[in-house]
Amino acid sequence: MKTNKHQTLLLVMRLEAVHARDLESHFRYSGGTARSYLSHLARQGLLGRTGSGYGLTPKGRDRVGHFQIFGCLDRDCPLCQGKAGYLTCPHCGHRRPSREVKILQKKDFIIVVRHPGVYCSRCWKLIFSAAQARLLGIPEER
Ligand SMILES: [Zn+2]
Ligand SMILES: [Zn+2]
Repeated sequence: MKTNKHQTLLLVMRLEAVHARDLESHFRYSGGTARSYLSHLARQGLLGRTGSGYGLTPKGRDRVGHFQIFGCLDRDCPLCQGKAGYLTCPHCGHRRPSREVKILQKKDFIIVVRHPGVYCSRCWKLIFSAAQARLLGIPEER
């Protein structure tokens, strides 16, 4: 059974702490695969020891959020079918081609101020602050 980072991290987030046997029962990884995969993710800084199991680190949590928006790089990931190359709104699921995504400038409306950032073009909720978006290399609107 091939490991899948996205599904594994998502399971850890749901359960808060996992043991190798959780991966065995959810994904049918073998015992050896489950143990070595957990320590592999811990070496990448995505998981940390919590008591007797492993939990998500802040970096692991960020990665799950990133996968939700951009998809992961695993072509066979059942959670990300067709997500690669698109930005998916975590609030409403709307997809836009990544190359069309821009950081919108600050704008004053009569009753609210829209801060600079990346917004969903359907529900208009914030997806990334301008600072996060710049780190990801998203261009500014002109
Ligand atoms: Zn995925
Ligand atoms: Zn949306």
